Amino acid sequence: MAELSMPALRLLRSVFGYDSFRGAQAEIVELLSAGGDALVLMPTGGGKSLCYQLPALLRAGCGIVVSPLIALMQDQVDALLQQGVKAAFLNSSLDAATAMATERRLLAGELDLLYVAPERLLTDRFLGLLDRLAGENRIALFAIDEAHCVSQWGHDFRPEYIQLSILHERYPRVPRIALTATADALTRDEIRRRLGLGEARVFVASFDRPNIRYIVVDRDNPRGQLAAFLAGHRFDAGIVYCLSRKKVDETAAWLQTQGIAALPYHAGMDTESRRDNQQRFVRDDGIVMVATIAFGMGIDKPDVRFVAHLDLPKSLEAYYQETGRAGRDGEPAEAWMTYGMNDVVIHRQRIDESAAPEEQKRIERQKLDAMLGYCEAAGCRRSLLLRYFGEEHGPCGNCDTCINPPDLWDGTEAARKFMSAALRTGQRFGAGHLIDILRGKSTEKVAQFGHEALPTFGVGGDLDEATWRGVARQLLAGGLLHADAHHYGALKLTDAARPVLKGETTLMLRRQAARAKSARKRSAAPSPLLPRASGLFETLRQWRAATAREQGVPAYVILHDRTLHELASLRPQTPDELLGIPGIGAAKAARYGAALLAAVQEASAHDDGIIGTAAAS
Ligand code: ADP
Ligand code: ZN
Repeated sequence: MAELSMPALRLLRSVFGYDSFRGAQAEIVELLSAGGDALVLMPTGGGKSLCYQLPALLRAGCGIVVSPLIALMQDQVDALLQQGVKAAFLNSSLDAATAMATERRLLAGELDLLYVAPERLLTDRFLGLLDRLAGENRIALFAIDEAHCVSQWGHDFRPEYIQLSILHERYPRVPRIALTATADALTRDEIRRRLGLGEARVFVASFDRPNIRYIVVDRDNPRGQLAAFLAGHRFDAGIVYCLSRKKVDETAAWLQTQGIAALPYHAGMDTESRRDNQQRFVRDDGIVMVATIAFGMGIDKPDVRFVAHLDLPKSLEAYYQETGRAGRDGEPAEAWMTYGMNDVVIHRQRIDESAAPEEQKRIERQKLDAMLGYCEAAGCRRSLLLRYFGEEHGPCGNCDTCINPPDLWDGTEAARKFMSAALRTGQRFGAGHLIDILRGKSTEKVAQFGHEALPTFGVGGDLDEATWRGVARQLLAGGLLHADAHHYGALKLTDAARPVLKGETTLMLRRQAARAKSARKRSAAPSPLLPRASGLFETLRQWRAATAREQGVPAYVILHDRTLHELASLRPQTPDELLGIPGIGAAKAARYGAALLAAVQEASAHDDGIIGTAAAS
C-alpha cells in the first residue's frame, strides 16, 4: 500500500486538487494500479471517475474508457484537459479527419485517457489499434462506465455492452474496472457474468447522499408552492419533473412569466430544440429544466442544486435515480416534491388499466406502495429510503421529517366518518365530494343526489378541508381505500378497512399543519447548509461564466461551485494558499491563479474599505 499510495496521493493533489481519497477510492486505485479488476457500485456523485482516471495516469499507456453517453464525452474530456490530463474521445460525432488524428495520437502514446463509444470500440479497425497497443503493453486499463447497460432487464440496455466481454478474452492482462450507480444485486450479478468479471473485487459504497435534503409537501397550490420553493434557489440550476409533456410545456411557460430562466424538455419536442435546451442547461449558469423523465440519463452536471417533483414517481427506484441528479458535487442540494391524492389515484389507475400480466401489476403495486409509504413517512425519510435499498441508517437530521417531526394524531374516528360517507353514498364518489358531505357544504352535487339527508352530512365540520384531504390520502396510501379505475376514481373500501370501521384498531395519522410551520421556519432562518452567496462568490461566478463562454465549455469545467465557495470563504492570498483550495490543481493554478488571486485581493480591499468607513463614522 505504502509504495502506491504516495504517487497516487501526489497525483490526487497536483492534478485534481484534492487532499484525500473518498471512501473506497484509495483501495480501488491501488487495486487497479497493481493490475487487478474491480466492479464498483457507487451512487451518483460518489466519485467514480477518479477510480479509473488516477490508475490510468499511474500506469503506463492509455486508459480506454467505454461510455454510452456520447453527448457527454466532450464535456468529460474538456474537464480533464483543464486539469492538464491528455484526454480525447472517439465517437460518431467526430468527422473522419479528427477521428484519424485522435487515433494517431493514441498510437504515438500521446494520450492518457481515451473515451470511446462501445459501438466504436467493437469495430475491427479499433480492435486492430488496441491489438497493436496491447502488444507493446500500452493499454493502461479498460474502464466500463455505466456498466448496468449490459442488463437486459434495465431501462438502459445497450446490446453492444454484452459484446464488451471481448475485452477480457482478447486482452486478459489489461486490468478492467466496471462502474455503475445501479445498486441492486440482480444487476450486479449480471454485470459480473456478462463482462467476465468473476474474479473482480466488488466495491459497494453506501447509497446515502448526505448532502441531499429530502422534502415532501402536501399539494394544495402546486404553482404557488413551487414558486415559494424556487425563491430559495435564485440563480441555481435545477430540474422540475412533471408527468406529462403538456404539463412540462405549461409549467416552463409559467415559470418564464415569473422571471425564472426555465426551459422545457420532453420526448415530444424536435431533436434540435431538445439538444439546444439540454446544452443550455449544462453550459449556462442557473437554468431550471422543466422535464419529463425523458431528461436526465447521463446528465453529469455536478452543480444541479435541486430536483423538484410536481408529480409522484412510480417507484422509489425512479425517485432515487431522479433526485440523485442533484448535488453531485457534494454541496447542499434539495430534493423536493409535492404530493397529493390525485397521484395515488392516477398511478393506481395506470396499473389497473395496463395490459401487463397480473404478476407484473402486483410488483408495480408494491413499488407504488413503497413510494406512498415514503411520502406519508412520519419518521426520517432518508432512513426509510435507504432501508428500501437494504441499508440501515439512523435519523439523518437533514430531511423535512427530521427537521420538523410531524405531529401524529388519532385519526380513527375521522377515518370511520370518512369511510362511512363513502359507504352511504354507494362507494361511487371521489374524495372531493365526500369531504363536502362531511363538512356539510351544500354544493350543487350534494343537492343533486340529495346527500344533505345523509346522517354523515356535516358530521366532519370540526376538521378543515386540508385535514380531511390528508385523511383521505392516508387511507388511500395505506390501502384502506381503493380508487376504482373504472368509475372515475370512485373510492371503495378494501378488506383492510374493516378493523378500523369496527373499531378494532386505532389509526394514527400525520397532521397536515407541519408544512406551514416548516415554511415559516425556513424563511425566517435560512438553512446553514445552504451557503449564502457572498459578494466575492458572485464576482467569482461571473468571472467563471465569462471564462467558460470564452472557451465554449460548461462553467463547472472551469471550477466547481464548491471551489468557488472555498475561495470566497478562505480567501487565499498566495499561489501556495491557492493550491490548498479543493479542486485547484497545478494546471488550473497556472492558468487561472492570477485572475483568482486578483479577485480575492480586490474583494478584501473593498471589504476593508467598508469596515474602515463604518468604524470611522
Ligand atoms: P460519479 O461519477 O460517481 O457520479 P464523479 O466522479 O463525477 O462522481 O465525482 C463527483 C464529484 O466529487 C466531482 O465533483 C468530483 O470532482 C468530486 N470528487 C471525487 N473524488 C473526490 C475526492 N477524493 N475529494 C474531493 N472531491 C472529490
Ligand atoms: Zn431524516
